[in-house]
Amino acid sequence: MKSFRRELWFDTKSRREYINITSQVNQCLIDSGIRDGLCLVNAMHITASVYINDAESGLIQDYDDWLEKLAPHEPVSFYRHNRTGEDNGDAHLKRQVMGREVVVAISNGKLDFGPWEQIYYAEFDGRRRKRVLVKIIGE
Ligand code: ZN
Repeated sequence: MKSFRRELWFDTKSRREYINITSQVNQCLIDSGIRDGLCLVNAMHITASVYINDAESGLIQDYDDWLEKLAPHEPVSFYRHNRTGEDNGDAHLKRQVMGREVVVAISNGKLDFGPWEQIYYAEFDGRRRKRVLVKIIGE
C-alpha cells in the first residue's frame, strides 16, 4: 500500500471565505501516483471546515447567510467562549455545522465524485495562516 501526505496552506484576506480546493486535491492525487484507494481531506483547525458541495456562487452566499443566522459573529459578547479574550466563538460553531473532513474514493486514478461535487475549504476565522491535511492511501 502507498501513502501520501501533503499540507495545503491558506491565508485568507477576510474573516470568512469559501475556497474551492478541488484542483489542489486533484494535484495531490496525481503526485501520489495512487490509482485506487481513499483520499482524506481535513481542516487542521477548529474554526475551519472542509466540505463537499456544488461550485455555485449563489450557494456559497446562501451558506454564509445561513451560518450567520445560526451563529452570528456579532455581538461578540454573546458567546461564553469569547470571555477568554477571543472573538471566534461563532467560528467554532460554524465549523461544527459544516464539518471537519471529507473522504473521497479514488477509482482509476481519479477522485470518484458524484455529479457537481467539489471540495471546499471554509474559513470562519481567517486573516492568518491555516492549513488543510490531504492524506491518500491505496495502490
Ligand atoms: Zn476560539
